[in-house]
Amino acid sequence: MALPMIGKKGARSIALHLVSADRYLALRLAHAIESAALNVRTCALCGGLSENELCDICADERRDRAKLCIVLGVKDIFTLEENGFYDGRYFVYTGEEGFDTLEKLIKDGVQEVIFAFAPSIQNDALIYFIEERLSPFGLNFSKIAHGIPTGVNLENVDAVSLLRALDGRVKV
Ligand SMILES: [Zn+2]
Repeated sequence: MALPMIGKKGARSIALHLVSADRYLALRLAHAIESAALNVRTCALCGGLSENELCDICADERRDRAKLCIVLGVKDIFTLEENGFYDGRYFVYTGEEGFDTLEKLIKDGVQEVIFAFAPSIQNDALIYFIEERLSPFGLNFSKIAHGIPTGVNLENVDAVSLLRALDGRVKV
């Protein structure tokens, strides 16, 4: 068994703590993991994590339906939501097979598509590809750019830089 970001030593000290110091925490943790494994699934619209057919964001009528932020992983939704300054909806792009769902979302009032991809040559090529596919919809396209260093994951970008990047998004 292996968990991301946890090495052998870390795993050992967590296990020791749970079985010796805090058995109550161990049981709560076990229960939380069990319930997550049983109940968490992928939102039918955006591809984010959800306990229902639609996630809280897609189901939220107050979110701005004119804005759609495309990300490359579920983690990036958490990063952007944590900072709480984006009020539109999301779409997790996992490949060409997702275009049907993406188009469904877009037909629901989207006017601007924001690519929240970490800057790289591959991601720029992907932006171009997605833009081409969505060109019949007459949308505005922008991407976050300023202040995000090349080759860095969004979760490692501080909130201020991310806000600036979103505010200063550039047309693509
Ligand atoms: Zn959703």
